[in-house]
Amino acid sequence: MPTFSLMVHGGAGTLSEADDPAVAAGYLQALRTVLEAGRARLSQGASAIDTVECCAALMEDDPLFNAGQGSVLNADGKIEMDAAIMNGRDLSAGAVAAVRRIANPVKLARRVLDESATVLYAAEGAERFAREHGVAQVPEDELITDNRRREFEKLRTEGSEAPANKFGTIGVVAIDRTGNLAAATSTGGMAGKPAGRVGDSPLIGAGTWADNGNCAVSCTGNGEDFIRTALARTAAALVELQGLDARDAAAKALDYLAKKVNGRGGLILIDRAGYCAAAFNTPRMIHGWIEHGGETRCRL
Ligand code: ASP
Repeated sequence: MPTFSLMVHGGAGTLSEADDPAVAAGYLQALRTVLEAGRARLSQGASAIDTVECCAALMEDDPLFNAGQGSVLNADGKIEMDAAIMNGRDLSAGAVAAVRRIANPVKLARRVLDESATVLYAAEGAERFAREHGVAQVPEDELITDNRRREFEKLRTEGSEAPANKFGTIGVVAIDRTGNLAAATSTGGMAGKPAGRVGDSPLIGAGTWADNGNCAVSCTGNGEDFIRTALARTAAALVELQGLDARDAAAKALDYLAKKVNGRGGLILIDRAGYCAAAFNTPRMIHGWIEHGGETRCRL
C-alpha cells in the first residue's frame, strides 16, 4: 500500500542551549508533537501540501522556534518574517517576505499560492494582500516573546550576534499517499538583520523546493549562502539529473554549499521514493522524520 513520509526541522546552528537536557527534551517533544500531528493527517489520506502547511503553522505557534510567535528581532527591534510553501504536483508556490503583523506567515503564503497569480509578496503589499483575503493581522507585540526581547538587548549592548540565536527557522517536507511532494519553510530570519533583509526561506529554489519529479527540500542556515547557491534546487538537480538518492543528494548539496561559498547550515529532503535525509555542517540541526509511515525519530 502506498505510504507517506514526513520531515521537519527547527533550525541549524550552535544551539548551545540544547546542551541542557531539559531544553533538549523540550525541543524533542515539540518535534514529536508536530510529527504525530502530521502522521495523523497523512495516514488518513491528507495531501502533502495541507500537511506541510499545518505542521509549519504548529511550529510557528511554538515560541521555541524562530518563526511566527518567537521570531527573532531585526536591527530595529522589529519582527520581519519570511515564509514559502510549494506543491510538487504542479510547482505552484506562494511566499511572503518581511511581513510583520501575521501570526502564521505560512498560512498567508498558502493563500498566495491558492488565490493569486503572484508567487511572492513582500512587506506592506503582503499585508494588504492578507487584509484583502481575510487573513487576520495581529499586533506585532503578540509575536515578540520576552526571550527575544532579552536577546535583542544583549545583541544591542554587546554588539555582536549571539551565535546560538542566529538560526532557528522551521521547515517541513512531506510525500503523501498519492506520491505528491510538498515543502514549507518559515522564519523570523537572522537575529539583528537589517530592516528589509530577505533570506532564502521565501525564495523558491533557494530555501524551499518541491517537485514530484525529484524531491522536496527545506533549508536552514545563513540565508545569503543558500540564495547564492540556489541550494534547494541544487539538491533537487542532483536527484533529477544525477539520479542520487535522498541521502547522497542532501550530502552533496551541503558539500557544494561549503565548498562554493563556505556556507553554514543544513537541509531536510524527501525524494520521490519517500526516502528521508538530513545534512548539516553546524554543531546542531533540530530535526525529525517519519520514513514510509514508520517510527518517529527526532535528533538534535
Ligand atoms: N535561513 C534563514 C535566513 O537566512 C535563517 C535560518 O535558517 O535560521 O533568514
